[in-house]
Amino acid sequence: MNKEWSEKNKKMQSLIGREATFAEGIEALIDLRNDLLTQVSYIVNPYPEEAFYQMPFAGADGYHSKTLAYSMWHIFRIEDIVAHTLICGDEQVLFTGKWQKKTGSPIITTGNELKGEEIAEFSKKLNVKVLFEYCKAVKDSTDELLRSLAYKDLKRKFSDEDKKRVIDSQCVSTDEAAFWLVDYWCDKDVRGLLKMPFSRHWIMHIEAMCRISNKLCQNARKGADPIARCGLSCNHCFLRSWCGGCRTAYNTCSDAMNHPDRVCPNTSCCKGKGIDGCYECDALVSCRKGFYEYDDINAIKAMGLFIRKYGKAELLKTMDRLHKEHDFEKIQEVLGNDLEEGLAILEKTRRGRN
Ligand code: SF4
Ligand code: SF4
Repeated sequence: MNKEWSEKNKKMQSLIGREATFAEGIEALIDLRNDLLTQVSYIVNPYPEEAFYQMPFAGADGYHSKTLAYSMWHIFRIEDIVAHTLICGDEQVLFTGKWQKKTGSPIITTGNELKGEEIAEFSKKLNVKVLFEYCKAVKDSTDELLRSLAYKDLKRKFSDEDKKRVIDSQCVSTDEAAFWLVDYWCDKDVRGLLKMPFSRHWIMHIEAMCRISNKLCQNARKGADPIARCGLSCNHCFLRSWCGGCRTAYNTCSDAMNHPDRVCPNTSCCKGKGIDGCYECDALVSCRKGFYEYDDINAIKAMGLFIRKYGKAELLKTMDRLHKEHDFEKIQEVLGNDLEEGLAILEKTRRGRN
């Protein structure tokens, strides 16, 4: 389990277990949920539509065998049912906000009953951006419920009438792969529900989402040019585990993300000039467009100048060597911010190999 989330989860559980620290524990839970939802936004915002119905681990044993869209639907449908139908006995966010129609979902259930290809087919029908709005609406509504709880509520158990309400809602399929959820939830007290559908269940599925998205990025990288148009080596970029490379649809570079069409100024400029990258442009040294507008980014230009002199393949080999020799995240940490010095370091590293 992600170490930071696991620590926060443990801390939250310990705090809610004592009356004196209960309120602090609820805030710790909401803080953990904020972190997790932010992680989902890192997946929803940059990745292309097709990413949300791919099953790169189809048939595997675990949550990562599903799709990204299914995972989002499943986490928040479960929370909506448990928070509203079971605990509060009121209307779910799905219905008050008319989210089934808005998301395009053909079902109102948790999705546990779906198998194999059905999961991918279901995922294709969902409007992911709208689905994320539903996720946020459910989270906000549950956070409100959490803040309204008192320590004594933790021991509240559920009656046959509560169980009947969940069954009658028809939000849990009668398929054996799903129906067990009714007993699972109703046999817990409120504290047990805080520890699973409202926290740990998120962690497990969101970790699986990270695994799925990382795999999709790795797949996208295969055969793609790893040299960005600005001169950066995507193979050595600190974003590489959750970015497919900036010449693929799985580009997560903030410079691309910050533009409405998701094309960074360097890329549009190169395309306009009909060149492969900034390393083919006469204006490279003095250019302040896009990625080059930042004051500390001369290291990227140094990589561009290096490509101009020695080619892309040499840059990739030199970068491999540089990473063996130094422990760094961003290339500026090694090349500094002086263009000539940065180029000289790359050339020295290249010579060291020859
Ligand atoms: S600035 Fe543009 S070209 Fe450079 S890495 Fe980002 S998306 Fe790619
Ligand atoms: S003008 Fe700047 S952004 Fe455009 S191709 Fe040349 S170096 Fe790249």
